[in-house]
Amino acid sequence: MLKRRKKHQYHFNTKSLTFEKVKVSIKEKLKKFLYIAATGMVFATVVLLIAYNFLSSPKEKALEREIDQYKLQYEILNERIDRLNLVVKDMENRDDNIYRVIFEAEPIPSTVRNAAYGGADRYAKLEGFDNSKLITATTKKLDALSRKMYVQSKSYDEVLALAKDKSKMMACIPAIVPIKNGALKIGSGFGYRLHPIYKTLQMHPGIDIISPRGTPIYATGDGVVQSPAGNYLTGYGICVVINHGYGYETLYGHMSRRVVNEGAKVKRGQLIGYVGSTGMSTAPHLHYEVWKSGARVNPVNYFYNDLSPADYQKVLEISSKVNQSLS
Ligand SMILES: [Zn+2]
Repeated sequence: MLKRRKKHQYHFNTKSLTFEKVKVSIKEKLKKFLYIAATGMVFATVVLLIAYNFLSSPKEKALEREIDQYKLQYEILNERIDRLNLVVKDMENRDDNIYRVIFEAEPIPSTVRNAAYGGADRYAKLEGFDNSKLITATTKKLDALSRKMYVQSKSYDEVLALAKDKSKMMACIPAIVPIKNGALKIGSGFGYRLHPIYKTLQMHPGIDIISPRGTPIYATGDGVVQSPAGNYLTGYGICVVINHGYGYETLYGHMSRRVVNEGAKVKRGQLIGYVGSTGMSTAPHLHYEVWKSGARVNPVNYFYNDLSPADYQKVLEISSKVNQSLS
């Protein structure tokens, strides 16, 4: 009886004073089963959620460690980028304040040096992750650095070209005395001088170097021999005009003989002719002119390659004496 009572449920009828077997319908059984199942599932879900959110699996733990490692590496990379930025900054400073100054180039504006890469969505693909901020910031820094390095390398190309051009320019600018040891033999300098024939004060647009007939005359800079233009022609006799480029021309007048023809390329110090007294001249001498951008300038200022400072001072004194020119 007891065993059976455990298996079935009984209910005491107070009227009949007997135990009556309680009949449980299948529907109620199902209901009870579903209730228990639902409670179990809720409990399991809660446990799983807790486990999922607060406890990591060994694989997750390994991944977490790896992410921490990446973060650390990103931070180290950031520091290295910062140090590289300092090096580039130093290169930029030296470039703008030394190299570009020497070669007369304008400093590169900071707007060009620090220009950002275009496109707002350039970093969009890096957004939406836990470490987006770190990754985007590092990428931006690297982009800026690459840009700076690119501008700097372009600038060095430009400076290199200027330096090459400068050495060519230095070879072309008239910078020696056209007659050996001729600086101290200047009979008449640049400026207003008494004309030997007209006996009036006239502009003497060059210098006269007194030398015996047949003394060799040398080109004062690299250039090309050109035909004397109309405004050179008056009274120079046999003469050579050299176009040096960069706005420079030189003229050598009253020669007894010229040894270079029009179109010939000449080097500084190359023989171009001999002293004479052809044209409007009163005695053998070389009349030498330097033209800069279409205007005649004092040739004495272009003797810096040949003279010591003391000699240069002497030449300035000699050439500034107001005397009679030899034309
Ligand atoms: Zn003269």
